[in-house]
Amino acid sequence: MFNKRIKIKELLSKEPAGQEVTVMGWVRTFRNNQFIALNDGSTNNNIQVVVALGSQDDELLKRITTSASLKVTGTIVPSLGKGQKMDLNATLIEILGDSDAEKYPLQPKKHSLEFLREKAHLRFRTSTFGSVFRVRHTLAFAVHKFFNEKGFVYMHTPIITASDAEGAGEMFKVTTLPVDGTAPKNEDGSINFKEDFFGRSTNLTVSGQLEGELGATAFGDIYTFGPTFRAENSNTARHLAEFWMIEPEMAFYDLEDNMNLAEEFIKYIIKYAIENNKEDLEFLAQRLAEEEKQLPQDKRSEMGLLEKLEFVLTNGFERLTYTDAIQILKDSNHNKKKKFQYEITGWGMDLQSEHERYLVEKHFKKPVILYNYPAAIKAFYMRQNDGCEAGKETVAAMDILAPGIGEIVGGSQREERQEKLERRMTEMHIPLEELWWYLDTRRFGTVPHAGFGLGFERMVQFVTGMTNIRDVIAFPRTPGSAEF
Ligand code: ATP
Ligand code: MN
Repeated sequence: MFNKRIKIKELLSKEPAGQEVTVMGWVRTFRNNQFIALNDGSTNNNIQVVVALGSQDDELLKRITTSASLKVTGTIVPSLGKGQKMDLNATLIEILGDSDAEKYPLQPKKHSLEFLREKAHLRFRTSTFGSVFRVRHTLAFAVHKFFNEKGFVYMHTPIITASDAEGAGEMFKVTTLPVDGTAPKNEDGSINFKEDFFGRSTNLTVSGQLEGELGATAFGDIYTFGPTFRAENSNTARHLAEFWMIEPEMAFYDLEDNMNLAEEFIKYIIKYAIENNKEDLEFLAQRLAEEEKQLPQDKRSEMGLLEKLEFVLTNGFERLTYTDAIQILKDSNHNKKKKFQYEITGWGMDLQSEHERYLVEKHFKKPVILYNYPAAIKAFYMRQNDGCEAGKETVAAMDILAPGIGEIVGGSQREERQEKLERRMTEMHIPLEELWWYLDTRRFGTVPHAGFGLGFERMVQFVTGMTNIRDVIAFPRTPGSAEF
């Protein structure tokens, strides 16, 4: 058997007393022809392999270069040096794979995140990305754990969808028709999708919600956790063309139940990451603190990463209506001094990310849940509230805004009343026939229900303190970029 090895994370938790072990991993550094820092990805910490002088032949020593892969057998003993608990005194070193030091793109020094994005195939071997992606894993695991413990059914909603009810114009087309102009045409010159693979026009999904509602109205509680795609041309540090979304959908929930679940969920997964990835988070906290030293004082965070996470766990999210939020923004000194790039035009306006961040970072200094938005700026399926604000209709929508990120969750109570839903769809020019299956849930045993979507990468950004969303997904897809 080849893989009889101990992972370095587990090894480092042992008391060194001369036990024999075998480790395998990649060389981080090799000093003085004597000390190898070996890493296997199980932790950011390396095991120090000590090569006794004269114990290995020179040819082999020359091949111990940065990122070469090794199998090392030896005994663990308390380290004589500072900085590590144990040494692995090598008895047998085997080179599994050479790494040409001249050609290896990453040097054992600090590289910029931008540089590493171009080397995304190798960046997992750096400490920063090792930590980020272990935390990402833990968060993903916590998502399933949370919903499983609550009895939610994990539902795999389709990636390819025919419904173009939502996000029109932001979708990636899926087709097997030729793109060289020879695709079959209708009489009016438009493409005849009846000839296409599915016999109709299809897209990559922008959300699993509509299908999720079908599940919720049978299982009670469901969640999805899968990739979603948006062809929006937003070149920001918070938008990807391919991102992962978690979308729970719950029957017998109103808006307040929805907010309660979202807040509990966010706190749960953060707590789970702190409990299970403390070392990685400490490393990332330190990294962030270093990075912020480069910033002017007023751009630095008031709290360290771990402090911020603890703060979120122990404080309730601020809940206020859209109407109250507009009032706060209007009255703010920031607005009076005309410091917003986008003017606060008043009730009915769509909030820009700078407005959301002002509320969260400057005004409340904690996560905020905004609810009851103007119907005109929200999707057709959101439940219409009784009564009006500023003479206009509102819907039972809620967005959760997080410090440093802005919108992290978007959700709502859904319109369960068939007539009201159909009236709204007609107003918004959404073809009822196309969503016949969705409307059936309102025809047959409709129930109050609600749900939300949490952008997983934004959550990972929040927990790891990474400022660019491209650094929390393995291979980012953004406008003009789909390498790897
Ligand atoms: P934004 O205003 O930030 O573009 P949105 O209103 O388009 O967000 P929703 O359609 O409500 O977002 O999607 C639900 C969640 O998915 C958002 O709260 C956010 O966390 C995440 N999200 C939306 N678009 C993207 C994207 N392009 N890349 C990464 N995450 C996204
Ligand atoms: Mn958007």
